[in-house]
Amino acid sequence: MTAGDRIRLVDGDITTLDIDAIVNAANEALAGGGGVDGAIHRSAGPELMVACREIGGCPTGQAVITRGFNLKARHVIHTVGPAWRGGDEDRRLADCYRNSLMLAQRDDLATLAFPSISTGVYGFPIKRACRIAIREVIGHFSRHDTPHSVTFCCFGAPDTERYREALAEEGFFL
Ligand code: ADP
Repeated sequence: MTAGDRIRLVDGDITTLDIDAIVNAANEALAGGGGVDGAIHRSAGPELMVACREIGGCPTGQAVITRGFNLKARHVIHTVGPAWRGGDEDRRLADCYRNSLMLAQRDDLATLAFPSISTGVYGFPIKRACRIAIREVIGHFSRHDTPHSVTFCCFGAPDTERYREALAEEGFFL
């Protein structure tokens, strides 16, 4: 089994995925919001907000886990991406992917899907962000068997093409 066999690329709504966990691009207050965060909370139902309030918050680059409630996904991993300020945010975006993957591994979750963290309202350039995402996932796969597979769930054809190109740069043709 190569890293390429463990990577999936889909264009679609992450809230519809029947999977062990989806990752949410949350904010530090875990207070919900727009974009993918809003979509996940709407689909999961109000219990997700209660669970987030109990946790209280999450610093940028870190990740926390809740149940998925009304989502098809069994769990939600909430990670807080950095807002783009011009170039010094790469490491903290990498932390989001690494810490989310480590949580999935700790809880023995076989299948995990990421949205494109920080590239919406937070303004991180997509090409730069997806190279970081892919590099972190490949690095995790080289050291760990869990999660068994990771889906990059892109929202729309342009983002999906950017991921496809970045995967091809790493030798993965999906
Ligand atoms: P951030 O604040 O981290 O930039 P956003 O939610 O604004 O978070 O955007 C992150 C990415 O999630 C963007 O690429 C956006 O197009 C995408 N997105 C928005 N809604 C969904 C959804 N339902 N499923 C998957 N991706 C989504």
